[in-house]
Amino acid sequence: MKRDAPHSAIGSLMDITARPEQLFLRGDGSWLWDDRGRRYLDFVQGWAVNTLGHAPACIRDALARQSALLLTPSPAFHNQPASALAELLCRHSDFDQVFFTNGGAEANEGAIKLARKWGQLHKGGAHEIITFRDAFHGRTLATMSASGKPGWDRIFAPQVPGFPKALLNDLASVQALIGPDTVAILLEPVQGESGVNAATPVFLQGLRALCDQHGLLLIFDEVQTGIGRLGTLFGYQHFGVVPDIITLAKGLGGGVPIGALLARRHACVFVHGDQGGTFNGNPLMCAVGLAVMQAVLADGFLAEVRATGDHLGARLQALSAQYGLGEARGIGLLRALDLGRPVAAEVVAHARERLMLGGAAGNTGLLLNAPRPSVLRFMPSLTVTRAEVDLMIDGLAISLEAVAVRPL
Ligand SMILES: *Cc1c(COP(=O)(O)O)cnc(C)c1O
Repeated sequence: MKRDAPHSAIGSLMDITARPEQLFLRGDGSWLWDDRGRRYLDFVQGWAVNTLGHAPACIRDALARQSALLLTPSPAFHNQPASALAELLCRHSDFDQVFFTNGGAEANEGAIKLARKWGQLHKGGAHEIITFRDAFHGRTLATMSASGKPGWDRIFAPQVPGFPKALLNDLASVQALIGPDTVAILLEPVQGESGVNAATPVFLQGLRALCDQHGLLLIFDEVQTGIGRLGTLFGYQHFGVVPDIITLAKGLGGGVPIGALLARRHACVFVHGDQGGTFNGNPLMCAVGLAVMQAVLADGFLAEVRATGDHLGARLQALSAQYGLGEARGIGLLRALDLGRPVAAEVVAHARERLMLGGAAGNTGLLLNAPRPSVLRFMPSLTVTRAEVDLMIDGLAISLEAVAVRPL
């Protein structure tokens, strides 16, 4: 025997984050059920992943249909779902070609490689990519280096070089970093993990102008803002600024792992051998991506996201006024509430563990996310209803009072 300590299935997982004890068994729309029979209204949704909620019929059908046909021929062969999804993404965006990945970090790695390759071809080997403080781009070595999370410059030192940091919404801080080695600017149009901090349209227009003036590529990390989250198919469309490259993941798969790198023709400079991956563009995940895209592109879907997003924003604003909290911010169905005091983790724990939404009989809790000690983030399914938003606000008010935050 290689172990003498008691052993459980859960204990066999590497302990990489503080997971609560619940074992989640089943999901349906905005709802999750655990192994103890408690149900939860879910405003985390796999971290802004479940575009259409838990277990939507169109994803179940796509998986069943495609899994009976073809799982993976080879990433070096064509398959129908990958071609169709790439065509659909290009038709509804300003981009010309797509490279599929297995997630967001890998899509950003691809964007970084594409920019460096473009710099070799067109800018005398320029390779620096200006990135931003508090940004989040993933957990590979290069994307951690591109991220601006405090402390991340030290935990797996040495960093991958070439990612100087500017300040969001401070054009002068970007300008000051542009030099002969600069090849691109990379940012999230709305910083998600830092607590839903949006770039201003004027700032993004300024970045576009700087890129045009200096011959740089503008790259938007739309892993969180893409696929309807902001009420437009892609986040850049909300701001009216067209980048040269975007990356997608989270919402594109609606719950399954798929990401994508999209580029305008002039930036599509990979040649054979530069980029690849065993599972990239596999038909099973691409079939799901197609189902998600078709649902989000259906008539009226995005208008409903905007309306529900406005409703969520208004309810958060009213709650903030009622309880004397901080800023309610965000766009579409990516929102945050600054509680003005570092109780976000306590509120999240109460809502999950002890809240009894609608009375004790229902045994119903609420799943929320605290990206910062005083900030809550809301990233429900894009199909969330106003009634579910109202129920979440009711639960949040109860949990706020449970941690001694009282109405004014
Ligand atoms: C989640 C996220 C990533 C990382 O995506 P993974 O699929 O976890 O690798 C990158 N960028 C942004 C903006 C994200 O929100």
